[in-house]
Amino acid sequence: MNDMNISRIIIAVDGHSSTGKSTFAKAIAQKYGLLYVDTGALYRGVTLFAIENSLINQDNIIDSVKLESKLQSLRPEFRNTGENGKSELYLNDRLVEKEIRSLSVSSRVSYIAALPLVRNYVDKILRLYGERRGVVMDGRDIGTAVFPDAELKIFMTAEAKVRAERRYNEMIAKGEEADFQKILENIIERDYIDEHRDTAPLRMAPDAILLDNSHMSPEEQMEWISQKISQKWN
Ligand code: C5P
Repeated sequence: MNDMNISRIIIAVDGHSSTGKSTFAKAIAQKYGLLYVDTGALYRGVTLFAIENSLINQDNIIDSVKLESKLQSLRPEFRNTGENGKSELYLNDRLVEKEIRSLSVSSRVSYIAALPLVRNYVDKILRLYGERRGVVMDGRDIGTAVFPDAELKIFMTAEAKVRAERRYNEMIAKGEEADFQKILENIIERDYIDEHRDTAPLRMAPDAILLDNSHMSPEEQMEWISQKISQKWN
């Protein structure tokens, strides 16, 4: 049994794209009274900012010098303004939740996230959240690079087709247009770029526990993690 109180721990939930990391991390945060931080939203926010300022072109070539200087004027902030107090991202007081989930952002975010200057920018924000402890963060490098000493690390994966199907169904349920093939391609491409970049590539930390949820319901996943947590913390 661990001495540290669960309200003081950092939980890192890393893994492949569209594995349900945020749903899972949010449910953990709610059950154990921890703060949830969606680190991908910050990378998506920087990507939206780059698109809107014409700092990334159609071929995903980025004007990194301008991006670095312009980022100084960007103020990303999470506010609990969503349904049931759901946390939402604002950029300079403008709500951008919908825009950052668009295919235009999804198809460029991994290029932006590969830039060391962007990773440094996001890491600084994440470390501030980490200082208060009692947080669950989902992302790609939380357990390997941002908080290598996190008390609990989970690495999530699932078959690519299963992930694309879930994403497709989610979009259809929201009344959005969805193209299964494009979604699948985007998932595979993002995984590839995330795993092959030089800075903080996506990989499973040696001390992480693997969760392949291809054939698990959200309830089964919560059951699984609750057992792990109760083995370590009472
Ligand atoms: O988690 P989400 O899919 O919203 O993340 C969007 C993208 O941001 C990922 O595909 C990845 O390229 C990048 N990302 C990252 N490191 C993180 C979180 C997200 O590189 N910690």
